[in-house]
Amino acid sequence: MSVAGPQPTVQLPSVSTPLQNYSKDKKVGEGTYAVVYLGKQITTKRNIAIKEIKTGLFKDGLDMSAIREVKYLQELKHPNVIELVDVFSTTNNLNLVLEFLPCDLEMLIKDKSIVFKSSDIKSWLLMTLRGVHHCHRNFILHRDLKPNNLLIAPDGHLKLADFGLARSLGNPNENLSSNVVTRWYRAPELLFGSRHYTGAIDIWSVGIIFAELMLRIPYLPGKDDVDQIDVTFRALGTPTEQIWPNVSSLPMYNALHVYPPPSRQELRQRFSAATEKALDLLILMTQLDPKSKTN
Ligand code: ADP
Repeated sequence: MSVAGPQPTVQLPSVSTPLQNYSKDKKVGEGTYAVVYLGKQITTKRNIAIKEIKTGLFKDGLDMSAIREVKYLQELKHPNVIELVDVFSTTNNLNLVLEFLPCDLEMLIKDKSIVFKSSDIKSWLLMTLRGVHHCHRNFILHRDLKPNNLLIAPDGHLKLADFGLARSLGNPNENLSSNVVTRWYRAPELLFGSRHYTGAIDIWSVGIIFAELMLRIPYLPGKDDVDQIDVTFRALGTPTEQIWPNVSSLPMYNALHVYPPPSRQELRQRFSAATEKALDLLILMTQLDPKSKTN
């Protein structure tokens, strides 16, 4: 295992790696720090996505996302993790060549003309968990799991994408940032400002995605960070010292409105199509105390 500090290092290919290996055809998306193009690998005629990052525009933090994405995708080769095919640089840009995946889970959830069978949900969940397991066994946390970062290949394979917030778990005493994961998918320990956390934060996100796949609407859509705490605990009960020892010592824990935990019957009503086994799994993934989720 490589124990990375806060500044991951990455081997970039030389500037001479040629753009002529790829065609850059049309723009298909724009992210926080990159423009994404559909292209082709000239030799194989394979469709690829070129994520073009403008290095000249780097301000604090943005360059780290690109470095993280390259570093972790180079380390993580797995059928359920997006493939980084190549990296090359041109004068002002860093280009990530990724496999082209035209669809994501958010698009599918929002398209109400598509009926989800329980086998679809099981399969997406299993592929997500296989990808997450691969990250965790390589001591890497994804830290931004959400439906639009779960991309779907034309053959139906689901792949984890967007490793711009990922990081490796090294020294357990090292402080980590609690300002990670898109709000609706953020685990309770992060909402309370914990600086020492584990893969349990990714499992929480997967649990909330699982709920969203069943409901077809976001499960815990907080309007802002304060509201997220309220929405989360209204749905799942307010953590107490009894169910989560030492919770009150977390930096941003304060006297909260105390909501009771939902009864099994309430959860059955909320997830009316879920089987008892699906509910068991959902309950396990959304345990408030992160220690109850560690393997
Ligand atoms: P964000 O900053 O929103 O996380 P990205 O920078 O990773 O997003 O990508 C921006 C958009 O480009 C995505 O929303 C998606 O539409 C498209 N995109 C990104 N990666 C791929 C890919 N590998 N294949 C196809 N489209 C992609």
